[in-house]
Amino acid sequence: MITGAKRYDPRVAAALIKEKALQLGFSACGIAQVHPLTDDSEYLQKWLAAGHNGKMGYLANHADLRSDPSVLVPGAKSVIVVLLNYATSFSQQSESLKIARYAHGDDYHFVVKQFLGELLRFIAEEIAPVEGRAFCDSAPVFERRWAHEAGLGWIGLNHCLIHPEFGSFCFIGELVVDLELEYDHPIEGDCGFCGRCVTSCPTQAIQPQGFLKAEKCISYLTVELKDEIPQEYQQKLGGYVAGCDRCQEVCPWNRKASGYTAPLWKVDKSLLMMSDQDWLALEQPEFKRKFSKSSLTRLGYKKLMKNCQIVFEAAGTDGEAHT
Ligand code: SF4
Ligand code: SF4
Repeated sequence: MITGAKRYDPRVAAALIKEKALQLGFSACGIAQVHPLTDDSEYLQKWLAAGHNGKMGYLANHADLRSDPSVLVPGAKSVIVVLLNYATSFSQQSESLKIARYAHGDDYHFVVKQFLGELLRFIAEEIAPVEGRAFCDSAPVFERRWAHEAGLGWIGLNHCLIHPEFGSFCFIGELVVDLELEYDHPIEGDCGFCGRCVTSCPTQAIQPQGFLKAEKCISYLTVELKDEIPQEYQQKLGGYVAGCDRCQEVCPWNRKASGYTAPLWKVDKSLLMMSDQDWLALEQPEFKRKFSKSSLTRLGYKKLMKNCQIVFEAAGTDGEAHT
């Protein structure tokens, strides 16, 4: 437990926390009151029962933790949610391969949690004694739902959180704390008659009125799936070897979004400069050295190179990636 109270008022505390979050470099911050997310838990159970988690069996674990953050942090009262915009405008050199934008820089899990840790220290030292934990895509937490409840956007048909100013290319982090704070209100957005993400998805993973079929999603196939990508999807990767941004790239909310302003998260320009030949020549020691801080380490060298090989073959490129 971190201690060091100086003053405490829920409204003032919330304002100070948001101000500090922006000072640290986060793009936006909102606060939601802790309560069980019963509807989301039921939705998850139906989604799992339909098998849309593919081979991500771990998503079935810890249902009790997911539905109620006070199980993760005893006495939890508030979820402080931060967004970190990563909509870079840098283009990739390779003609054949694409890496999803989230992996263009340092592993965001560590970056976001590191600065949430600083925010927690600030609360303890400047506001009130606090017990809390930081999360970023690292624990059973319904992140997009908490971001919605914290007034940071709504969940679009592409199943991403859409912030009215920053769009959907945002990392989401949460600080679950045992302090009472002034709370924000959800904002409602609307996809209207758009549907571009649905029609643009190369594998029909998005169902307009239903579940996201993660087992068909290129992000799952290229990153999470340990087995070989099924033949039926190998021609549909659209060049992606790690993740997929297609349903976000086509979203009108991202076209009018404010650009990348996230000094916390640094883009690795040397990755973006890699040509097809550089990817083909990439050896394991170089991969380990070059990408030691990158999300790409989560795939591992062999999976990444296998994905490269599939994409090169689909493009008819005469290359032999290492496997
Ligand atoms: S990330 Fe790609 S494959 Fe997955 S739903 Fe979006 S467009 Fe479809
Ligand atoms: S592409 Fe259109 S339908 Fe899809 S999330 Fe964006 S606004 Fe909604």
